Amino acid sequence: MVKLNHHYQKLSGSYLFTEIEKRLAALKRNKKTLINLGVGDFTRPLFPSIVSALSEAAKEMGEATSFRGYGPCEGYLFLRQAIADNDYKNIEISADEIFISDGANCDIANLQEIFAVENRVAIPDPTYPVYLDSNVMAGRTRHLLKTGTYGGITYLPCSEETDFQPLPPMGHVDLIYLCSPNNPTGVGMERSLLKRWVDYAREHEAVILFDGAYEAYIQSPSVPHSIYEIEGAKEVAIEVRSFSKSAGFTGLRCSYTVIPHQLKIRDAGGVHSLHGLWKRRHDTKFNGVAYPVQKAAAALYTSAGKRELKASIASFAERTHVMREGLQKLGYNVYGGIDAPYIWCKTPKQMKSWEFFDYLLGEAQITTVPGRGFGPSGEGFVRFSCFADPKHIAEALARLKKLR
Ligand code: PLP
Repeated sequence: MVKLNHHYQKLSGSYLFTEIEKRLAALKRNKKTLINLGVGDFTRPLFPSIVSALSEAAKEMGEATSFRGYGPCEGYLFLRQAIADNDYKNIEISADEIFISDGANCDIANLQEIFAVENRVAIPDPTYPVYLDSNVMAGRTRHLLKTGTYGGITYLPCSEETDFQPLPPMGHVDLIYLCSPNNPTGVGMERSLLKRWVDYAREHEAVILFDGAYEAYIQSPSVPHSIYEIEGAKEVAIEVRSFSKSAGFTGLRCSYTVIPHQLKIRDAGGVHSLHGLWKRRHDTKFNGVAYPVQKAAAALYTSAGKRELKASIASFAERTHVMREGLQKLGYNVYGGIDAPYIWCKTPKQMKSWEFFDYLLGEAQITTVPGRGFGPSGEGFVRFSCFADPKHIAEALARLKKLR
């Protein structure tokens, strides 16, 4: 008889956004005008340089002389080189150390499979749920406890007490997920703290999986854009970035993962290159990202692409600024929203996060995301996403003002 992967039974009930959708459905039936400040999806159309690169590439695919079939699994050199020359120009990451992929989500979920099940995992709390769920599925945790935490995982609380920064633990961990700027708190990690993490990883022979999906939004000089800005990080860290939230590739799908050649793991079998292992895994399980999509991503590194990207980031930063100031004026305690388009808002009157979510939905028809859905330390907060249209942000603030 076939047996299932029983670790899937340990996953906590319904996925956060499914539960939110369920609660929204009732309201939609009542035909109320909803303002969605919940889901973190891109809301602007693709930049003109992306559209023209996509259509040029599609035409190439339609000509016998320029048609392309399978491409290199790790991505075309034109894109990998553009990333190395632009995103890592002061850090010396070579094109060869960059793997193109169809999403940071898939890479961050899949990377754990090149590590043994026995590794102790550390995860910021709250954070992007994929880090935890992919390790639950892989059998790296025990059961979900009544506290809402999984046995076998080291949680790194990001609370008001820690300025929403995940601090290195007292004990030993092997695999460390860091997300900066963090989803959902919208807070970026300070350089001095990132250095402490790199030192910790070197001392403990641990590996850091660094998710920089919101890197393009960083404004604070004290928040590094890449973990490789920290000395010694190339020996202990993998960095994942995405074009989803910077340039609206949530539907097109393109991201990249950097694994430096210096990143080596010592175990009983000898010294192993993580780059080599990931390449082996990629060659077996992945056939690369579509050529037109890679061409579209490469267009972001042309002067027109850079201009359009900068304008788009500025536009979302302005929306986030308006929302942040507006919430503050209304007396809410808010965090984040400087280095990411997310605002982490403390619930008033010690309401639980789902309670405040329901209140905002019922009374103001505003969708947020309950902080509890991102981890136990998210209790007492909701996330406002500022990808929404400026009109909707203004309307949301007006509705919140009436609520008072
Ligand atoms: N990493 C973080 C922190 C995210 O918030 C998200 C999406 O919300 C992703 C990764 C997923 O990125 P992609 O669209 O490239 O899969």
